[in-house]
Amino acid sequence: MPPTVVTRESISAAAAYKPAIGDLSMTDLPVAAKVAQKVMQDLRMGREHQQGRINWITTIVMGLFHVGAIAALFFFSWKNFAAFAIMYFFAINVGIGVAYHRLLTHRGFRTPKWVEYFVTACGTMALEGGPIFWVATHRVHHQNSDQEGDPHTPVDGTFWAHAGWILSGRAMHSETALLGRYAPDLTRDPVHVWLSKYHWLPLTITGLLQIAIGTLVTGHFTGGLTMMLWGTFLRVTLGLHATWLVNSATHLFGKRRFDTRDDSRNNWWVALLTGGEGWHNNHHAHPVSARHGLTWYEFDINYYCIWALSKLGLAEKIQVAKFDPKNPKPAGV
Ligand SMILES: [Zn+2]
Ligand SMILES: [Zn+2]
Repeated sequence: MPPTVVTRESISAAAAYKPAIGDLSMTDLPVAAKVAQKVMQDLRMGREHQQGRINWITTIVMGLFHVGAIAALFFFSWKNFAAFAIMYFFAINVGIGVAYHRLLTHRGFRTPKWVEYFVTACGTMALEGGPIFWVATHRVHHQNSDQEGDPHTPVDGTFWAHAGWILSGRAMHSETALLGRYAPDLTRDPVHVWLSKYHWLPLTITGLLQIAIGTLVTGHFTGGLTMMLWGTFLRVTLGLHATWLVNSATHLFGKRRFDTRDDSRNNWWVALLTGGEGWHNNHHAHPVSARHGLTWYEFDINYYCIWALSKLGLAEKIQVAKFDPKNPKPAGV
């Protein structure tokens, strides 16, 4: 990469970029400044620049998962439901909410490296891409929320924000270098690079395990296949829609506690589906906070997981937003 001249504009842009990421070391600051300069140079992540032809491979895979999900509904059993619930918890709560979002994207707390890698591997099981793609895309979302350059804003259309940007956007195919610049902390880490390259592997291994376990506990191979339909196909499909609702519904429906510069909202039913990610206005106002539900009634299972990790001695430096309920203000205001 050619050397980047850090200008006054890029440093002030870095100041806007920095509050969304906690606990980056001082050596990351010049990198953040360079990243911010790139953000100013190319707002390439929005629909205007991203809308292209349909990504057929992605669309066919997504279609197959939806067909498998519907097929699963004809084979309900409590054993299959248990496989679904356990896998959903590890992929969506531990993997996407705790790992990809609150730990890797925003660095709202710290864990030993082996824990970081384990929870990241859980995140790959959600079929939402590897950690570098996910984290970079989400950092761009915070940088340009509901403005030009936001990869998935409902301003560009509700379906675009929900799934269109994945099915017909070019981000996953031609913007690898651009995305890498938004996640320099991950591209420097060989384990995260490896997990990003082989993000399909944990999903495949656990899918095969479900066939084996299902066959063992039911005594026939069909029992194994239907357990895999519930634990993988139905679970991945519902998990994808739950996550996508954070991009679509929580920028459209719900209450706004904080007057943020985007359209983010606190949406209780998306919070219920995602384990707390639906308190999205709280999150845009205090992006580094590992806790998204800021009152006792804003349930936040993903934060309870982080709290439990800290009690086990596996999480520290947990950032928690403080606000005045009578005069709620976004961080830095
Ligand atoms: Zn958002
Ligand atoms: Zn975020």
